[in-house]
Amino acid sequence: MRIHDSLSLLASMQFGLGGPRDGHVYAVAGPEGGVLVDSGAGTDTGRILQVLAEDLPGLAVRALLLTHYHLDHCGGAAELREATGCEVFGPEPCRFILEQADEAASGLKAARDQGVYPADFRLRACEVTRPIRDGETFTAAGRQFTAIHVRGHCREASCYLTRMDGAAWLFTGDAVFYGGVLGVINAEGSGMDGYRADLHKLGGLGVDGLFPGHGLFTLRNGQRHIDCAITQAAGGFLGRQVGQGDLLF
Ligand SMILES: [Zn+2]
Repeated sequence: MRIHDSLSLLASMQFGLGGPRDGHVYAVAGPEGGVLVDSGAGTDTGRILQVLAEDLPGLAVRALLLTHYHLDHCGGAAELREATGCEVFGPEPCRFILEQADEAASGLKAARDQGVYPADFRLRACEVTRPIRDGETFTAAGRQFTAIHVRGHCREASCYLTRMDGAAWLFTGDAVFYGGVLGVINAEGSGMDGYRADLHKLGGLGVDGLFPGHGLFTLRNGQRHIDCAITQAAGGFLGRQVGQGDLLF
């Protein structure tokens, strides 16, 4: 689904694109090729690449930026790397989860037990060829990104900031959603401690385009959704969290 001349949504469980368990997979055009943000769950990687060819013809995938280690965001990383030879960028502190396909640390084992994922879902190991630290600015496919790590949804996750035609675009994974919704879930490694420590890093960025890992996105005034989340996380009560009765899958 083409969003902008240089941006497409390739997969999304909420929009009925790609596989049924895919978080949002975005493709961003760079001067030297395509950058995908997250990989989906890996159930229909061929379809993701097919949509890319239809939406942004001729764009070769050079880089995959992973926001975090949950299956709906990184399960397709190994297959995408095999199919395209792309570099894989991801938060350094949790690279071992993907590289060792650690299903307990990734939360996949618990999620299967909770019935979130079918019993036969597995995490495939994938090398994180470019581990990224908090605050690091790097180049992928000729496009500059800055990683901002935000804990709270899980142990370690990265948001990726880039500038497009003068606009600031932020890919937030499951850290912050449209409407200021927080990504707190009932899983080990998730909780308000991380948000209280890290969410302020997303303040004052002047974000225009806000592109979360699920649900709605916007090309305009994205910062107000982030600021709403920051206000909630600073309060004395739990803010609005993803999954509060929402049908996510
Ligand atoms: Zn997640």
